[in-house]
Amino acid sequence: MNDDGEPRPPSGYQLREDSSFGRRFILTLFLASLPLMVFLVVAVLAGWPMAVLIGGLVALSALELVAVAMAFRTTRCPQCGMRVPVPWRDGTQFQPGGLRYTCDACRIVWVTRVEGGGSGV
Ligand SMILES: [Zn+2]
Repeated sequence: MNDDGEPRPPSGYQLREDSSFGRRFILTLFLASLPLMVFLVVAVLAGWPMAVLIGGLVALSALELVAVAMAFRTTRCPQCGMRVPVPWRDGTQFQPGGLRYTCDACRIVWVTRVEGGGSGV
C-alpha cells in the first residue's frame, strides 16, 4: 500500500521526520555564501577587472560548496544526539521524500525533506 514511491526503511527501523535539518542546511548555505557576496560587492565597487571577478566567483563558489559539504558530512541524531554520517553519496536527496540518514543506535531513519535538483519545498 506504499504507492508514493518513497523508499521504505530497513526492517526494524522507524521512519521519522527531522524538521530542523532543512533549516540548518539553508542557514549554513546562506552563511557560506556571505564571503561570495562580500567579494562581489567589493569587486564591483572597486572596479576590479572581469577576469578577477569571474576567477574569484568560481573559487569562492567551490569553497562554499566544500564548506557546506564538510559541515553536513555528519549530523546529530535529534533523538540521542550522536553524530551520524549523512549519506550524500547514496543520492537519497534525489529520491522521493528527500535526503535521509540513519541512526543505528535509535534504529530510526530520519527524513530531512532536503531534496536536490528540484523544487521540493
Ligand atoms: Zn539516535
